[in-house]
Amino acid sequence: MIEETLDRLMRDVPDFPKPGIVFKDITPLLADASALREVAQAMAAPWRDRGVTHVVGVESRGFLFGTAVAMELGVGLILVRKPGKLPCPTYSADYTLEYGTDRLEIHQDALDSGSNVVVVDDVLATGGTAGAVAELIAQGGGQLAGFGFLLELGFLAGREKLPSGAAVESLKIL
Ligand code: AMP
Repeated sequence: MIEETLDRLMRDVPDFPKPGIVFKDITPLLADASALREVAQAMAAPWRDRGVTHVVGVESRGFLFGTAVAMELGVGLILVRKPGKLPCPTYSADYTLEYGTDRLEIHQDALDSGSNVVVVDDVLATGGTAGAVAELIAQGGGQLAGFGFLLELGFLAGREKLPSGAAVESLKIL
């Protein structure tokens, strides 16, 4: 059911943003009201009754699904952003993308020892991004409940870059 929705509304764009990358475009899915609700509910489902205090949304597509999942779970949202976007003191972690390198930041006061967070993003590719977010959560002193993705590119073995034992819930694995 949810797989059928993803197959219908996530579109492959070959050679974007550079040759050899097949980009998974979520814009048709976002534009479809019932699919958007279905995805939010399906991404939230594994985390109900698991003591999650916040969702961590990863810039920028993780903000979209992270907000939806947080509202489904009835918890707040914490932002992980690209460098220089967050206005207060931050922790930072460097990472490697499927197409480039970058750095991510989180506010130093975003987490405390009572935080138990689920990290939400659209696609798990090489795992560099999600691994960096796990580092930020550790720096901030929070607990990592796990990761939630719409789609996991399993052939890139991104899970291996995530902390061992972390729960990973992907709606679809390629
Ligand atoms: P990675 O760090 O390699 O796991 O890449 C994950 C991040 O890059 C996510 O925030 C995705 O939005 C984006 N990303 C990586 N590969 C793709 C892809 N093939 N299609 C769409 N987004 C991607």
